[in-house]
Amino acid sequence: MKTAILLVLLLAQGETSSEIDRRAAQIQSKVISWRRDFHEHPELGNRETRTAKIIADHLRSLNLEVKTGVAHTGVVGILRGGRPGKVVALRSDMDALPVTEEVNLPFASKTRTTYNGQEVGVMHACGHDNHMAVLMGVAEVLAGMKSQLAGTVKFIFQPAEEGAPQGEQGGAELMLKEGAFENPRPDAVFGLHVLGVAGNVGQVAYRPAGAMASSDLLRITIRGKQTHGAIPWGGVDPIVVASQVVLGIQTISSRQLDVTKAPSIITIGSIHGGVRNNIIPDEVRLEGTIRAFSPEMQDEMHRRIRLTAESIAESAGATANVEIVRQYPSLFNNPALTEQMLPTLKRVAGAENVSLQPPITAAEDFSFFAQKAPGLFFFLGTNKKGVDPTTAPVNHSPLFEVDEGVLPLGVRTLAHLAVDYLSQK
Ligand SMILES: [Zn+2]
Ligand SMILES: [Zn+2]
Repeated sequence: MKTAILLVLLLAQGETSSEIDRRAAQIQSKVISWRRDFHEHPELGNRETRTAKIIADHLRSLNLEVKTGVAHTGVVGILRGGRPGKVVALRSDMDALPVTEEVNLPFASKTRTTYNGQEVGVMHACGHDNHMAVLMGVAEVLAGMKSQLAGTVKFIFQPAEEGAPQGEQGGAELMLKEGAFENPRPDAVFGLHVLGVAGNVGQVAYRPAGAMASSDLLRITIRGKQTHGAIPWGGVDPIVVASQVVLGIQTISSRQLDVTKAPSIITIGSIHGGVRNNIIPDEVRLEGTIRAFSPEMQDEMHRRIRLTAESIAESAGATANVEIVRQYPSLFNNPALTEQMLPTLKRVAGAENVSLQPPITAAEDFSFFAQKAPGLFFFLGTNKKGVDPTTAPVNHSPLFEVDEGVLPLGVRTLAHLAVDYLSQK
């Protein structure tokens, strides 16, 4: 008897599964045209007004409950299934980058705008155009199966993943502040990113626990005492102190932290001080970025950076003022959820196409959502078959190119993850 019930359940699950694939195949050309349209008309973070309207109109046409203007231009759609159950959130980002497109495509971006006072090109150089088209497709597939769904699917279209314009708030953190995870509150959240280094189209990469790094802005101001370049003993040279600080903080990752636990990075990207060859200045300003893979390591790095910079400065009679601005937390994929959903990814993409992704030292603000609900964020390879992913232009390059073959796989992975999650105990 029990075996019979199990068999019926398995058959029903198999039917749902093939219905998702059938519906995904039916809308494939629509998904491609949405993506081309977004690609041709990219908008920067917090300015995604045209983009948001297309998304909201589509979700309304599917009879979803739609909220617009969340975190400036964000859109949230709610699809309530025919039966009660859990709540799963699916997230896409929406913004493009101030990059001038150099890819030779019929739908290449010719958009230009002003960014931080500079005239720039605008391009979906991180591939968020694909994410939006995929999630619009998933909404259409699942809306068509509403009566079979046990639970609720929340579609989250998020602005400004690449960071808000100067002086503005934005992105996942602001969406959460504005209630994107309330009424109803998700039990799990899924998201994907097209990624050049993840391989060729068809390949899926995932990583449980710390998958992407946290990102903090580091500012160090070294104050010495101005003097003549020929009389250094008459003052305190902040340039020499800054040089020691740059080297000193490099020993934190290489000599002080346990390198077998997780990678960590401190990069100083700018040094400013002085105006003339023979004048020792008062002050040198350093700016950099800090990357870590766990909150504990992040805190430890902050503590050691302060200690190293302040102690080196003190030993020379200078002072170091260390300012650290926390930007994105590290992206933590819930290990239990990852293990639970891995069979779905393998079934959809083919087990041989699913691999473990090495840690990625870039950051992603999906991490804020994954702090509020168990999350799984995974990667889809973007390169045309035959292209070497280790030499192909990467995300953010003016030459970054995504093979459209990624779109049906994106729709299928997210739709199957949502349905499988809702139907599992
Ligand atoms: Zn990006
Ligand atoms: Zn991105």
